[in-house]
Amino acid sequence: MSAQNENRAAGRRPVLISACLLGRPVRFDGRGAARPHPLIDDLDAEGRLIPLCPEMAGGLPTPRPPAELDSRRRVIDTTGADVTAAFSAGARIAVETALAHGVRLALLKARSPSCGVGRIHDGSFSGRLIPGDGLTAEALAAAGIEVFADDDLDNAARRLAEIDRLSG
Ligand code: SF4
Repeated sequence: MSAQNENRAAGRRPVLISACLLGRPVRFDGRGAARPHPLIDDLDAEGRLIPLCPEMAGGLPTPRPPAELDSRRRVIDTTGADVTAAFSAGARIAVETALAHGVRLALLKARSPSCGVGRIHDGSFSGRLIPGDGLTAEALAAAGIEVFADDDLDNAARRLAEIDRLSG
């Protein structure tokens, strides 16, 4: 039986993950942002991870200028270009991907204008953080998918264990 079928039979749902958290070189600076954690290692070993970079899925290249959300929820990069359309397209693709795979929980890179959960940069490119979600995190949550940032993985692990128990 394939890992996917074994997981399905055991009620273990796939988990969407920001591709940069697996070290994939998809960030604006052409690098990854690997986050070693037992939860990610275990899910990877079980074949349950679905890596996605919403910004690349939305059509942006790597590397690309850094971008932040402004107070009107537009995404502006450091050249002054409005890249909201690409970020929104990536968010839509993330939701479609998650729903197509029966994902209930996503692990996302903290503070990103796409993937950030609970705290994001304030649009001034000064490093200041404000409460809020990135566009992909917001869209996933609106679709009923629970989102956790990579600085909250212990809570994500606890919640996923509950979801697995209820799905099993
Ligand atoms: Fe990582 Fe998300 Fe940014 Fe892609 S959009 S580099 S997955 S934080």
